[in-house]
Amino acid sequence: MAVKAKKTARKSNTIKLKFDTSWSYDPAPESKSAASIKPKYDHFINGAWVKPAGGKYFDSINPANEEKLSEVADGNEADVNKAVSAARNAYEQTWQKMPAKERAKYIFRIARMVQEKARELAIIETLDGGKPIRESRDFDVPTAANHFFYYAGWADKLEYAFPNRKTSALGVAGQIIPWNFPLLMAAWKIAPALATGNTVVLKPAETTPLTALKLAEIIQESDLPPGVVNIITGAGATGADIVNHPDINKIAFTGSTDVGKLIQRAVAGTNKRVTLELGGKAANIIFEDAPLDQAVEGVINGIYFNQGHVCCAGSRLYVQESVAKQVIRKLKDRMETLIVGDPLDKNTDIGAINSRQQLDTIQRYIKIGKQEGAEMYESSCRLPGKGFFCRPTLFTNVAQSNRIAQEEIFGPVLSVLTFRTDDEVIEKANNSPYGLSAGVWTDKGSKIFNLTKRMRAGVVWANTFNKFDPTSPFGGYKESGFGREGGFAWVIALCEFN
Ligand code: ADP
Repeated sequence: MAVKAKKTARKSNTIKLKFDTSWSYDPAPESKSAASIKPKYDHFINGAWVKPAGGKYFDSINPANEEKLSEVADGNEADVNKAVSAARNAYEQTWQKMPAKERAKYIFRIARMVQEKARELAIIETLDGGKPIRESRDFDVPTAANHFFYYAGWADKLEYAFPNRKTSALGVAGQIIPWNFPLLMAAWKIAPALATGNTVVLKPAETTPLTALKLAEIIQESDLPPGVVNIITGAGATGADIVNHPDINKIAFTGSTDVGKLIQRAVAGTNKRVTLELGGKAANIIFEDAPLDQAVEGVINGIYFNQGHVCCAGSRLYVQESVAKQVIRKLKDRMETLIVGDPLDKNTDIGAINSRQQLDTIQRYIKIGKQEGAEMYESSCRLPGKGFFCRPTLFTNVAQSNRIAQEEIFGPVLSVLTFRTDDEVIEKANNSPYGLSAGVWTDKGSKIFNLTKRMRAGVVWANTFNKFDPTSPFGGYKESGFGREGGFAWVIALCEFN
């Protein structure tokens, strides 16, 4: 690594180290050869690979270079019918009857197999979704394995967890997941469903189906009884077929608020249970007494790592007025050092935007921000010639009512607003249609408790951001959805109490 530092004398005679942004790391790409991707994938139904009834397939591409990675089956109603009846049959004939401690062994085995194939899964996640290998390797895959481990532990404890009450499974769970954490979301949904004795029909997002299909291979190898987990690929229409299927007992959906509303309408008046984990516009709040360098790092992590493709991304930053100038300067300096580019490179901080469509949405919002009169700053980094990339971007002079402060952008775009008092920032932070998550940076524990009590957000991180583990419940207020997934809450949501 070559770092050239220029010393620049400032008027006050203090010395400022200014980093030349031409500094570079040598490329350190992860090898693609450790990943095996089949040219074509069918649906995974009843423990076997089944051709789509309509005979149609669609491409899954690498968003970092727009090259085709594989073809996957396009599911229709007939495929969904087949998967649901396999899941129902497995529920009634096998899974429901199996002693809980035996169910746990399968879940534990899947966890171990995910760990054993961690490198391959991380590479495929990065190729298919565009996220940096560092993220898939250090966060997505280990956290996915942890979900299987954690819920394996729950299976045989259910009998003792609710004194004087008996629990049973709900039946068949229909699970629809988005493209931002493809493998992790699959684990997050499948592991607790299996632990509580339910069987599953899961649909990954159309732009990122490959790690869920790899998980299907693992499930097949694990000898899990056929039909307990079925994985159907397809786009929104396939998702709607799952939602509308009359023999599904529980719908668990993670995705956009618009689709969440459609799903809620579709299941109204049916007996289906529903949890919806939808969009967000998280407020990240920096008080003047916060350790500023640590806070700035947390803000950068909260919005730029993972390309801002996180429903709980800290996309609204509220800084106390007295430190606003200092924080903005530190943010801009740090943005300049972020490495945007090849997601397979181990040095990359910001990878590819997941799809052309998502890149267009982000660019549309950047335009809106400028039209609204906010001041835009973007890092000066060079972007690769091919693929879908976006520079880390920041807006200052943002008004609370601006669309870039109210609407979910789902990209590396941060809106910075200021405040003077605790009451003011709580009011502003809560003034959002969403309420999924928030962050607070301060030296004072009492301030943290005051804030967390009054924030209308499902998760509030204090002096950290975007921390996840399988034991913590997760879910939103308002248009961010309802129901809690994760931890004990997720177990409760998947059980019937008798
Ligand atoms: P995003 O904006 O994050 O792509 P979407 O809500 O569009 O979120 O997609 C999340 C998941 O929901 C994907 O698997 C997608 O195929 C699925 N989906 C999209 N439309 C529908 C629908 N009408 N019914 C059920 N699932 C849908």
